[in-house]
Amino acid sequence: MKTPQIFKTPQEYRETQKKLTVSGKTIGFVPTMGALHEGHGSLLKKSKAECDISVLSIFVNPTQFNNPDDLSKYPQSLDRDLEIARENGVDLVFLPSYESLYPDFFKYEVREKEFSQKLCGASRPGHFEGVLTVVLKLLNIIQPQKVYFGEKDYQQFLLIEEMVRSFFLDMEVIPVPTVRDYDGLALSSRNQRLTPGEREKAPLIYKFLSELKTPEQVQRTLEDSGFQVDYVTDYKERRFVAAHLGNVRLIDNVKI
Ligand code: AMP
Repeated sequence: MKTPQIFKTPQEYRETQKKLTVSGKTIGFVPTMGALHEGHGSLLKKSKAECDISVLSIFVNPTQFNNPDDLSKYPQSLDRDLEIARENGVDLVFLPSYESLYPDFFKYEVREKEFSQKLCGASRPGHFEGVLTVVLKLLNIIQPQKVYFGEKDYQQFLLIEEMVRSFFLDMEVIPVPTVRDYDGLALSSRNQRLTPGEREKAPLIYKFLSELKTPEQVQRTLEDSGFQVDYVTDYKERRFVAAHLGNVRLIDNVKI
């Protein structure tokens, strides 16, 4: 596999994107915040399999963090990320700075007024405004035919899919199943911040989500096991959970 080409500004990327479009190549896009793992790898593999050119973006988006501590502790591993990109056949990597992505300094934002205020939106005010705004910017810059999102962040996937339809963006939004560790824990960049004891306990989220009958039972059993539960809620045939272990907030969801 060859080393991917790196772009740091929308202008730099746009020149290449125009040439790709003229030559009729399809572009698959995987937006991330870096600290890549096999969950991201699975999105990259699908993009590689389905499109001529695979684009990865890495940008830790400050506008979606309602908790400054969570932002400052967000793991970063650029060299390893570029190696994973290369292994997965990524062609182009977009690594923008805050200034290049927010020339307006976040004066403009995308706001969804219903579902984004529920589940994670209820406990993370402003989170989905930051997510939708940065994703709209990235989609306008990259101009992919297909964009890939993980089912691990299913609320995010649903909101982005509807935003793409609502603003008539001409692309497909494709969900990719959650990749889990050997013990069922959904892979997440934040798992690195769990202590060994917390890491041992964390798979209980998926176990209880899969095995117990009602959201109330899941919530109670998690609390009895030492989790601080944000919510367990059924929505459109899926069961969603967010719970804290120490300082780390974990989310997961399953089809019911
Ligand atoms: P993040 O870097 O955490 O913002 O995630 C970037 C993309 O990878 C999002 O579409 C996530 O839903 C997806 N993703 C993260 N973890 C997983 C996982 N364990 N399985 C599948 N997709 C994932």
